[in-house]
Amino acid sequence: MSNNRRRGGGGGYGGRNNNRFGGGSNNNNSSFGGRNNNNSNRSHNSGYQGSNHAEQPDVRLCKFFLLGGAGQCQSSQKPGGCQFAHALQRVADVACSGGGGGNSQQHHVRAVCSYKNASGGVYVFTGSKDGHWRMWDAQTWSLTQDVQMEGEIHTLEVDAGHLVCGYEGPTPTIPGVNVGMVRAWNLANPAAPYDFKMSEPQPFAHPQPVYCCKMKVDAAPEVYTGGQEGGIHCWGFDAATGGFALKCKLEGHVRGVTSLALFASGGNFLLSGSMDRTLRIWSIDDPARKECAGMLSKNNDGHAEAITAVCPLTMGDAKYFVSGSMDAHLKVWNSSGGCDFTQKCNGAILALDATQDPAGKAVVVIGLVDGTVELRQPDLGFKLRSTLSNKFSVGHNGSVRALCCGEAYFCSVGDDSKLMVWQWVAPLPQ
Ligand SMILES: [Zn+2]
Repeated sequence: MSNNRRRGGGGGYGGRNNNRFGGGSNNNNSSFGGRNNNNSNRSHNSGYQGSNHAEQPDVRLCKFFLLGGAGQCQSSQKPGGCQFAHALQRVADVACSGGGGGNSQQHHVRAVCSYKNASGGVYVFTGSKDGHWRMWDAQTWSLTQDVQMEGEIHTLEVDAGHLVCGYEGPTPTIPGVNVGMVRAWNLANPAAPYDFKMSEPQPFAHPQPVYCCKMKVDAAPEVYTGGQEGGIHCWGFDAATGGFALKCKLEGHVRGVTSLALFASGGNFLLSGSMDRTLRIWSIDDPARKECAGMLSKNNDGHAEAITAVCPLTMGDAKYFVSGSMDAHLKVWNSSGGCDFTQKCNGAILALDATQDPAGKAVVVIGLVDGTVELRQPDLGFKLRSTLSNKFSVGHNGSVRALCCGEAYFCSVGDDSKLMVWQWVAPLPQ
């Protein structure tokens, strides 16, 4: 497989640690504040599993404000004011279930995405194990669409007026076996969805369930889908049929592809995270051939367990991407593919996304297996600023499965079958 080889230099992602921020020294001129990357690496190597020292957030969010705004916090009227931060409010707490009995397990929510339409209306989509995707109007949090697919939904992506859904479904030619299906809707014409098919004999998107998808919206739109079998498929828009045809396969991963992200830095790249514990960087500018430009594994400061999430992070002019893993570590990669920072979180990571607080400070939002959402601030060395947790204030009662960030809000979904939407009201106190 020529596309699996690692390139040596030449501007590609060699996977070598050409760390600009002094990873090998005590040089502290990092974008990530005064914390030293080496400390994290050392604790990592010495066995992070053994550590019981959960990092505590320095900002405690006011539970009453989270639930109901200033009117709910009696302390805010008192002379000293409230000792807890009034920075975020939970504006939605919606049960994503069919209503009619059933086992709550079936309603685990695995996917969330949101978009703003041309007239400024914000909509949030959720996808559940019960096979339904649901569309919520952010004005009222009322259900505006409820569409049942033929099996469990694993991923949803919305962009440029199109919704793409990855779900498990039966295939007529192979009875009793679910395969990976992908269906797309033009939201302006939702009555005529389009199915992604590998070929006539294989009328589905992947041989195994589709875990993730990503749209590249430009003059030549493409959709990337990642399957449990380890394959990534690139689909190109075909104006003749108005649908997407399989353009090429991106081969290399040997376990499920859990996350995809786009990354632009001296070219356009697709990032893929996998249960095979590697992160791959694919050069995608050539319409016909998508080459693997780098693989980040344990051999080059990568993760020790399955990678579950990857997202881009911009700090000023510098572009990074962040990966999260079941090994409970978040890793920050520079545009040369070097690992610039490793941060241990307070549990195995299932989801992450990057956003900004109202002061414009980058904040990384991380969803953990134990149901906690962590808010970490990159310019303070990924310090844990706040947590959203039902143990201490307000949060999910079950693993957080997916997160998405919008303008001044972010959404979280999880095994408690809940969609929660968190609105920024003020910056986190510095
Ligand atoms: Zn308060």
